[in-house]
Amino acid sequence: MNPLKPFEISFSSLGQGLHTYYFDIDSSLFSHFDQKFEDAEFTCQLDFDKRSTLFDLHFTIEGKIKMDCDRCMESIYIPSAAENKVVVKFDEDERQEEDIIYLNPNDTSFNVGKLIYEFIMLSIPLRKVKDCESENFKDCNQKVLDYLDNQVIEAVEIEEKENPLASALKDINITFNKK
Ligand SMILES: [Zn+2]
Repeated sequence: MNPLKPFEISFSSLGQGLHTYYFDIDSSLFSHFDQKFEDAEFTCQLDFDKRSTLFDLHFTIEGKIKMDCDRCMESIYIPSAAENKVVVKFDEDERQEEDIIYLNPNDTSFNVGKLIYEFIMLSIPLRKVKDCESENFKDCNQKVLDYLDNQVIEAVEIEEKENPLASALKDINITFNKK
């Protein structure tokens, strides 16, 4: 099945006013656009406001995507959420501008799959880490994180030994904090 099929909205038969759609998104949408993710689970609510000359689209997306953690390299679920608004207008010259999409006046349906894909991709944080400490289910590799923490402590200690000014500044800092 074409993974974009569930995202097709036939708007010609819709009455004017607000229509709400719900979509479930899995990794098949991403592989359609050549993005390989081990797993992805998102939900999207689309509030589709049909007006006489244009449509107001409001997307609310929430979910998680499985990727390698930047800190421990373990494959973990990165939570992600997005909220986007798009206006659909009609023009012979079909094009996409920032937040405005122009469809051909003869179109009767509109596929929102690519838009949802783009919104999710933009919502994925650049630094893929998770604050495991604050959650019950810790999926980071704790051994690797402990090892990295020790490395940081050692690096700080070495720097203090090699740089007397740094340790002197640290002492001054402590004195200030005491006051
Ligand atoms: Zn991690």
